[in-house]
Amino acid sequence: MSRFDLRVLETAQKVPGKPRHKTREVKVGELVIGGTNPIWVQSMTTTDTFDVEGTIKQILALEEAGCELVRVTVPKPEDAGALSAIRDKISIPLICDIHFDYKMALAALDHPIDKIRINPGNIGGYDRFRQVVRKAKDKGIPMRIGVNAGSLERELVEKYEFPCPPAIVESALRSIEVAESEGYHDIIVSLKSSDVLVAVEAYRLFAQLCDYPTHIGITEAGKAPYAVTKSSAGLSPILLDGIGDTIRISLLGDPIPEILAAFDILQATQRRVRRPEIIACPTCGRLAIDLEKIIAELEQRLQGRRLPVKISVLGCVVNGPGEAREADIGIAAGNGKGMIFRNGEIVRRVDEKDIVDALMEEVADWEKTNAHRLPKTKDAEGIGRRKLPVISA
Ligand code: SF4
Repeated sequence: MSRFDLRVLETAQKVPGKPRHKTREVKVGELVIGGTNPIWVQSMTTTDTFDVEGTIKQILALEEAGCELVRVTVPKPEDAGALSAIRDKISIPLICDIHFDYKMALAALDHPIDKIRINPGNIGGYDRFRQVVRKAKDKGIPMRIGVNAGSLERELVEKYEFPCPPAIVESALRSIEVAESEGYHDIIVSLKSSDVLVAVEAYRLFAQLCDYPTHIGITEAGKAPYAVTKSSAGLSPILLDGIGDTIRISLLGDPIPEILAAFDILQATQRRVRRPEIIACPTCGRLAIDLEKIIAELEQRLQGRRLPVKISVLGCVVNGPGEAREADIGIAAGNGKGMIFRNGEIVRRVDEKDIVDALMEEVADWEKTNAHRLPKTKDAEGIGRRKLPVISA
């Protein structure tokens, strides 16, 4: 008889993971945001938007890195004037970011943009916001209502005393109601704060009340590597709760590293698995093979492979066989050799020098036998792995 109440374990969910929060679908360019569509990765340029050549160059580099939606700032008329030329030369949806001046929003909407981002707290009241909504509706352009803790309506800050999660959510809901009163529903919402706890709670509260898709991010996260850790600390609980339809990691400086960081967070939370998951131990005095060399070579040879396969490579027999049994393909090392596991069974033993070749052969074989499970298109959502849930609904 245990002194613990084991009934808790008997009723616990054996396969972890919450389903994705059900949101409406909103079309942005060629992409559909929300519903069961992938959580798209977004970034923002750091160039002056009117510098057409520089902005296109940066967007093409972002596209190359895997960015799926891009935002440019439009603070001046000459920036709005550059939008058509930029849109013409890029392949991903173009989003215009507007603060303070609703006239810039109206100007941007005269161009073939794919989405507009408005911060209703800083464009001078709901009448101006309504004018932007009407024009976006006329043009058939979707909008992100981008609420930010740093620029909430004064009345809401006074009501709640400080920019807390309920104040942020009420601000979003008020703007949504204004938009809906105009018959406009092509809405995506963000509820950003530089405070991780505030952001997490705001997204959770919002998801209880509303089914518009959300763009998630921890704003002004600062400089990498801390900014990546901070973003991960904030976005992981949101994603694990099933919330979030597009994602941006805000990093100081060059936006290219934002893309890899976003895909890493999606991969680690299993919300969008797009590449092999490599499980490797940290190594210790028991290490029986040159694990760092093996992992470096394996990573390099797996580059570009979009396989949701779980590969475990552990340095000795302590946890090696156990982890290897749980993975799709695994290695447990000992005495300069590696035991190779497939789906929990030992399939062969190889010398240390042949471990990477042997793993790659197993990966090729896994790919053949799981061809029916692999994503068909570039945009397809990653699929779940053995013993892990498929989280797509
Ligand atoms: S698997 Fe073995 S080598 Fe790796 S950390 Fe654990 S005990 Fe050390």
